[in-house]
Amino acid sequence: MNKRYLLTPGPTPVPEEVLLAMAKPIIHHRAADFIPLFEEVRKGLKWLYQTKEEVLIFASSGTGAMEAAVTNTLCKGDHALVVRGGKFGERWAEICKAYGVKTTNIDVTWGEAVDPNQIREALKRSPDIKAVFVQASETSTGASHPIKEISEITRNTDILLVVDAITALGVVDLPMDLWGLDVVVTGSQKALMLPPGLAFIALSEKAWKAAEKSDLPKFYFNVKKEKKNHLTNQTAYTPAVSLVIGLQKSLQMMQKEGLPAIFERHDKLARATRAGAQAIGLELYAPHSPSAAVTSVKSPAGLDAQEIVKRLKNHYHVTIAGGQGDAKGKIFRIAHLGYYDRFDIIVSLSALEMALNDLGFSVELGRAVAAAEAEFMTQPAMAKAAVA
Ligand SMILES: *Cc1c(COP(=O)(O)O)cnc(C)c1O
Repeated sequence: MNKRYLLTPGPTPVPEEVLLAMAKPIIHHRAADFIPLFEEVRKGLKWLYQTKEEVLIFASSGTGAMEAAVTNTLCKGDHALVVRGGKFGERWAEICKAYGVKTTNIDVTWGEAVDPNQIREALKRSPDIKAVFVQASETSTGASHPIKEISEITRNTDILLVVDAITALGVVDLPMDLWGLDVVVTGSQKALMLPPGLAFIALSEKAWKAAEKSDLPKFYFNVKKEKKNHLTNQTAYTPAVSLVIGLQKSLQMMQKEGLPAIFERHDKLARATRAGAQAIGLELYAPHSPSAAVTSVKSPAGLDAQEIVKRLKNHYHVTIAGGQGDAKGKIFRIAHLGYYDRFDIIVSLSALEMALNDLGFSVELGRAVAAAEAEFMTQPAMAKAAVA
C-alpha cells in the first residue's frame, strides 16, 4: 500500500469535510440556493482578510488575482516598485512588463527579507512610483517580507501597497484595514485548504480610487464589474460553484478555530520543522526571516536536493517541494500551511531522516523528530488543528 502525504506549499491537503461538501450535486449559480451560500462566503472572506472591503472571487489560480492587481490599479506607462526576492517577486515584475508598466526592481538576495529602508529610498529617488509590489511570504525561498514596516512607509501617501499574501493570509496576522494594505491577493490551494481554482483580491479605498482611473486592458479580471456583481451575491461570469461550496466549509472550519489559534498553530509547526532540520545538522535557507508557511532547507554539501525530493516521493510517498530557479538542486521545502497539524511535521521529518540515510548521508534516526516533539511540548497544549 502506498499511503501518500502531501507537504507542498500549494496545493495543500483538503480536509475530508471540505471534500464531502464539494461532492454534493452541483447547484445553479443563478438560482436561489446560491444567494445565501455566496453571502456567507463573502462575510467569511472579510473576516479572514480582516477588512470591511469586498473580497472578490475569481475562477483562476492565484496568479489571476496578481494580474488583476496590476491591471486594475495602474495606467499605461505607470512606474511601479517591485521587491524581487524570489520566483514570485519576479512574477510581479513579469506581469507589470506584460502590461507596459515600467518597474524599478529591488533585487533581494534569495532567502532574505527586503530591508524597508531600501523601499523608502527607492520611493524618494523616484517620486513618480505609483505602487509597491511585494510578497508577504516568498514561497520560493521560504522567507517573509516585513509587510507591517513597509505599510508604514506607504500608508499616508498616494502610493499603493500591493501584497501577494498567497502563502500568508490565514497563516500569519495580516490585518488589511489596520495596517492600511491596499491590495491583498490570495489563492484557494494554500492556507484555505481547498483544491486549486479560486483567486481572491481585496482593494482598499485608496486602491478603489486608483481602479476608477486605471486604463490598462482587462476583461475577465475586472474588479469594478465583479464588485458590482458580488454586492448582489452573484459573479459576473460562471463561478467555480463546487469550489465556492468547499470554501463555505473551509471558512466555517477556520472560523471555528479562530484567527489567533490559526496563527499560533502555523508558528508552532514552522518552529518545529526548523528545529527538526537543524537538529540533524541541516542549514535553513531563510534563517533570518523565515515564513510560517514553508520551511526551506539547504541540501547537505555534495547532495543534490532534487535527490532528496525524489527519494521522499518514490520511496516514502511523501511529496515535498524542491527549489525553484537558482535554488533548484540546492534546497528542498517542507510546507506547513493550511490543513496541517503536529503529526504532519513528524511524518515529514521522519521520512527526511530515513531518506538522507538512504542517500548515504548518515543522520541519527529520530533526532529531527525528537527536536520537533520537544518544540511541540514547550507549550502545554497546542491550539487544536483545523479538525472540527
Ligand atoms: C502559489 C503562489 C502564487 C500563485 O501561484 P498560482 O500557481 O497561480 O496559484 C503566487 N505567489 C505566491 C507567493 C505563491 O505561493
